[in-house]
Amino acid sequence: MSDEVQKAKEAAAGDGDGDGEPLTIFDKIISGDIPATIIHDDEFCIAFRDVNPVSPIHFLVIPKNRNGLTQLSKAREDQKELLGHLTYVAQKLGQKECPDGFRLVINDGKDGAQSVYHLHIHVMGGRQMQWPPG
Ligand code: IMP
Repeated sequence: MSDEVQKAKEAAAGDGDGDGEPLTIFDKIISGDIPATIIHDDEFCIAFRDVNPVSPIHFLVIPKNRNGLTQLSKAREDQKELLGHLTYVAQKLGQKECPDGFRLVINDGKDGAQSVYHLHIHVMGGRQMQWPPG
């Protein structure tokens, strides 16, 4: 089992569930308390390089205000516009960095191999992707 899958299994889905719950490492990136290579920053989201890239290009797009959006399956109706924005930013950056194509992934929950409970879109590229994913 990979480290990432092991971490996902250990992370309880309730760990970062909503306001007032424990901060995740991504909150510390947003606040600047831990360093990250930030490649995009706007009113609603940031994008930064994944610390453990699985492809030559691998970055994450995350909402600045988690507001209960610990994972995609917690999305509320009033967050549809934010979800669209995150996806729009992901594809704009993806096109810029990976003109020959790229892949977006959102891991959700334990079986989805999610390890950080702050919604994030993985953007990966810079090589030929394979299918099916593991
Ligand atoms: P998940 O498994 O879909 O939850 O993805 C979490 C991602 O966050 C993994 O690809 C990690 O490598 C990445 N990650 C964890 N901590 C950091 C960090 O401090 N900086 C950048 N990426 C991180």
